[in-house]
Amino acid sequence: MDDNLPPKLRAQAAAPPKPRPRPQDPVEQEFWSRCQDGHLHFQKCRECGTWRHLPRYMCARCGSPDFSWEQSSGQGVVFSWTVVHQALHPAFASDIPYVAAVVELEEGVRMATRLIDCPAGDVRLDLPVTLDFEDFSDGFRLPVFRPV
Ligand SMILES: [Zn+2]
Repeated sequence: MDDNLPPKLRAQAAAPPKPRPRPQDPVEQEFWSRCQDGHLHFQKCRECGTWRHLPRYMCARCGSPDFSWEQSSGQGVVFSWTVVHQALHPAFASDIPYVAAVVELEEGVRMATRLIDCPAGDVRLDLPVTLDFEDFSDGFRLPVFRPV
């Protein structure tokens, strides 16, 4: 570690990589795989047309196992949020404070995510947001949102 660096940069230099999603099944793996091309896809029931997230095998509305993957518009609004002031993992130490949010997309699904380029004092309910991606050093792309 370089002791000549300011404390914040020292923390970044020593920080481990951010943890990645660890999909528990093939349908969740498919969701993350589709994010890697810079688009956001959700499942849509072929029986009743209901969009859904988190990924799962059956429609919660009608019980049908028949679905397709459809691209989201990436447009939504802030449904809920919190400002994170304490890093619970060292990889996030240089990011605090940051905004963790639930975004409600135009398709009706809600997604836990992070707001970028949004000072904590600017967040409000129904704030219009648009999809972006955080690119990790190993090429992994994480969907995030920014104010419109
Ligand atoms: Zn359905």
